Amino acid sequence: MLKNSKRVFETGRKLVPGGVNSGFRYRDPFPLYFSRAEGSRLWDIDDNEYLDFLVANGACILGHKDPLVTKAVEVQLQTGLTSSLETELSIEVAELLHEMIPSAESVKLSNTGTEAVMHAFQIARGFTGKNVIIKTEGSYHGWQDEAHLSVHPALRDNKTPGEISTAAEPETGGYVRSAPENILVVPFNNAAAVEKCLRENRGRVAAMILEPIMFNSGCILPKDGYLQELREIASKYGVLLIFDEVITGFRTAPGGAQEYYGVTPDLSVFGKAIANGFPLSAVMGAEEVMKVTAPGTGRVAFSGTYNGSQPSLAASKACLQQLKDGVVQRKLHADSKSLVKRFEEAARRTSVKARLQSISGQFQVYFTDEPVTDYSSAARADKAKYSLLCDRLLSSGMLFHQSHLFHHGVSKAHSQADLEKLGDTFGSILGEMRAT
Ligand code: PMP
Repeated sequence: MLKNSKRVFETGRKLVPGGVNSGFRYRDPFPLYFSRAEGSRLWDIDDNEYLDFLVANGACILGHKDPLVTKAVEVQLQTGLTSSLETELSIEVAELLHEMIPSAESVKLSNTGTEAVMHAFQIARGFTGKNVIIKTEGSYHGWQDEAHLSVHPALRDNKTPGEISTAAEPETGGYVRSAPENILVVPFNNAAAVEKCLRENRGRVAAMILEPIMFNSGCILPKDGYLQELREIASKYGVLLIFDEVITGFRTAPGGAQEYYGVTPDLSVFGKAIANGFPLSAVMGAEEVMKVTAPGTGRVAFSGTYNGSQPSLAASKACLQQLKDGVVQRKLHADSKSLVKRFEEAARRTSVKARLQSISGQFQVYFTDEPVTDYSSAARADKAKYSLLCDRLLSSGMLFHQSHLFHHGVSKAHSQADLEKLGDTFGSILGEMRAT
């Protein structure tokens, strides 16, 4: 059934360590290799068809091979322009972002979420003259040394408010030894911890960054008022508030989580769904802050051969034009409601302690009976049961990620029948779990 993937892995891993070019793509015992995609479906090189719930880690919001995006890229390729030159298209995309996103007074484009976050850190430091960045435990902001800290650290028991350690923990070897010194870590959904951290580090902090909905520990919603409180605290202490909207962007609302929750950050970072799977990202924010990146007059460099490359811009324009009226987002919110309802019914019927948390078509299943409100509660969920679920879904032709802290999603292209199929399969897997 998977003999071609196995064969490619055995040959490929001799040349490409682990057989994959991004750690997230690895699966045990070997990764899958794909040959094509369309709508809500993927096909691997053994010609197995999958109903896709990874949607390019959240990027393919319109589904794979969206006709308008594909056409726009085909037309653009005929111009012969690829990258490294500025065109009118980059300004058109900036205008669309400015129209859609509340904080987008000024916009700069780059390629990946990782890069956009690096730029945001430099801009924040360049603007404030301060060095330290606060992040939330459990969030992922890319793989660079200062971002790849305390994403999924080992659980500690002493995390009571008031005595929470703000020390950042590396996720990987090979990092710059001084990186953790510049980053302080607070739990998600705990504004008091942020204020305490700012009080104790007065005068040192440039910015606080967070995913407004913490999808990188599954799907963790901000408590009522949390983001508003962060906004007030950041202003009170004179630090910049950065929303990493690389996943929330364009899903929760055309203007991202900042529109959905009515909280405007000083800087925000978008990627993934900005171009439906083509590499493009953006940093945006208040003009006063962003102008530090103006060549000649600003003091923060911003450059890159591929920043705003032409095929990605064409994809982005065709994608954003389909996202700006809010119709897709309403469909995704309705999908979330229906997924939660189906899953809750199955969990009740089978008495399996599990929950599905979801918003804007993004979701994760946790095997726990406590509400998941931060990294610790997500990490305490039962990994072994999740792993069983994931294996059973795969053998039913549904693609999920093997980590219980990863996120899943549906796209515009996922039909009611697709959701029903997932709901029914959840029902039968939970039924089997009860029986064992
Ligand atoms: N921020 C968030 C919230 C992300 O989810 C990701 C990627 N999963 C990144 C930043 C990094 O983006 P990229 O993979 O495009 O570098």
